[in-house]
Amino acid sequence: MPVLNIILFLGGSVSRVLCLSHVKKMENIPPTSIFNPDKDEFYMLEAIKLAVRADQDGDVPIGACIVYGDRIIARAWNQREVLNDPTAHAEMIALTQASEFVGSWRLHGCTMYVTLEPCSMCAGAMVLARLDRVVYGCRDPKTGAVGSLYNIVQDERLNHRVEVREGVLAEPCSLLLSDFFRRRREQKAREKAADTQ
Ligand code: ZN
Repeated sequence: MPVLNIILFLGGSVSRVLCLSHVKKMENIPPTSIFNPDKDEFYMLEAIKLAVRADQDGDVPIGACIVYGDRIIARAWNQREVLNDPTAHAEMIALTQASEFVGSWRLHGCTMYVTLEPCSMCAGAMVLARLDRVVYGCRDPKTGAVGSLYNIVQDERLNHRVEVREGVLAEPCSLLLSDFFRRRREQKAREKAADTQ
């Protein structure tokens, strides 16, 4: 069974997307500074489902959600190709959604779940947003900025640090990416073969 089907089977249908025009202020939702690591896999599975959505649109499958208290307040996926926007990473879109929801650019009490180690842009944005915590699936040794190439979110020179947990559901997160790039290589090979005929 293809990886995408397995993940869809595990996670059910892709969840409803929070549109910026439909977000509500979360006045009555209490924040929490006590995070429950037992729920990390549950929320990472949500991020994986969102990554599948990116794959279906032809974008590299990376998904992210942001949790405040026990509530998911942002759901996003990589949309670089769809939007022709180099900044349209899942994490950036999720931060914007969450800020709209909270009614503030400060995301105190929030945890971001993302399938791949964030890049330098997204890690920097997490610091700027005063995010409390980031949980990611697999490492990105080529561009990762939360432990691989850099650790921007825990740089003592900056005015905010983000708590980090890595390796949650790392295998399915990694499989999504390797399956995507394998299919892309096969597609290019087919196109090349067709051109030479
Ligand atoms: Zn990024």
